[in-house]
Amino acid sequence: MTATLITNIGELTTNVARPGDALGTLHEAAVLLEGDRIAWAGAASDAPHADALGTVDAGGRAVMPGFVDSHTHVVFGGDRADEFEARMTGTPYAAGGIRRTVAATRAASDEELRRRLKGFTRELHAQGTTTFEVKTGYGLTVDDEARLARLAAEVTPEVTYLGAHVVPAEYSERRDEYVDLVCDEMLRACAPHARWVDVFCERGAFTPEESRRVLAAGMAHGLLPRVHGNQLGPGEGVRLAVAMGAASVDHCTYLSDDDVAALAGSSTVATLLPGVEFSTRQPYPDARRLLDAGVTVALASDCNPGSSFTSSMPLMIALAVREMGMTPAEAVWAATAGGAQALRRTDVGVVRPGARADLVMLDAPTRVHLAYRPGVPLVHTVWLGGTPL
Ligand SMILES: [Zn+2]
Repeated sequence: MTATLITNIGELTTNVARPGDALGTLHEAAVLLEGDRIAWAGAASDAPHADALGTVDAGGRAVMPGFVDSHTHVVFGGDRADEFEARMTGTPYAAGGIRRTVAATRAASDEELRRRLKGFTRELHAQGTTTFEVKTGYGLTVDDEARLARLAAEVTPEVTYLGAHVVPAEYSERRDEYVDLVCDEMLRACAPHARWVDVFCERGAFTPEESRRVLAAGMAHGLLPRVHGNQLGPGEGVRLAVAMGAASVDHCTYLSDDDVAALAGSSTVATLLPGVEFSTRQPYPDARRLLDAGVTVALASDCNPGSSFTSSMPLMIALAVREMGMTPAEAVWAATAGGAQALRRTDVGVVRPGARADLVMLDAPTRVHLAYRPGVPLVHTVWLGGTPL
């Protein structure tokens, strides 16, 4: 088993909370990696010595857990640059953008989708993301959804079945039949490849009652629930997520006081996706309000070709700090430990013995630079399961 000691770390973010420091920050620190796990973390002066140990001198740089991006849609065909350009030019564009990607995805071969998934995986890793979730939802037939779930499972264990992304055009006059399909045949084809079931509970997508049916059907097949909700306006998504015990409800842009109170009294994480508001020129969610109420907040990219075609977690941190009232420490926590909680994972997003050796070394003395130097590529080295990429 290979062992590596990363030493001379100027600032180590462990996310092992201490009173007054949720990020469990250590200075003049070291981390020992053994195989794919973290074996030890602490003061550099206390670091274990061993002859067979490879040593990496961090040179005073900051080291932190790899980012955990709990919400992406990176298995799809085509792109929608023209639609983005039209939106940014102020030209109204035809609705139904998701359906364009559905058509392009159905037309793409397995090889083409696999090639792109590998490309996105490289892109995520290069920016310090070491755990990411991938949703289906651009197939919307039994065979295409199963194909997307199977391909996604080749790059991540965090696969989400999102047959209930939108009602496809061919079912627009018989949506009940589509919901039946999502809850039955399509679910049975996808469940073997997935860990999660998700639904877009929003006006124009799926009603609260349809959403409840989809989640309940998924749970009956052993999938864990998560919800897209309260993105475009107030709605039932948050309360449904809490009632169903969902790990996370994502977007949370339009919340009532009751929604905030329900989240605060639950184990459901509020996952905020500021890349969407950035890319669509919409108002950002109010992270400060959620944090002050005691809600657990995560940040994720929502990387998708329509509303947020970025996979950059450092950008999410910068937006959360600049636009959403989060402190740099809160944003870094939300992009690492928060994402882990949104995926119900205790082995990532944290630096402690037994956790996965998924780490990022920044070319900066502190994690604050992630917000302080927006747009600058600060990722120096990424360790994935103990191996430097
Ligand atoms: Zn999404």
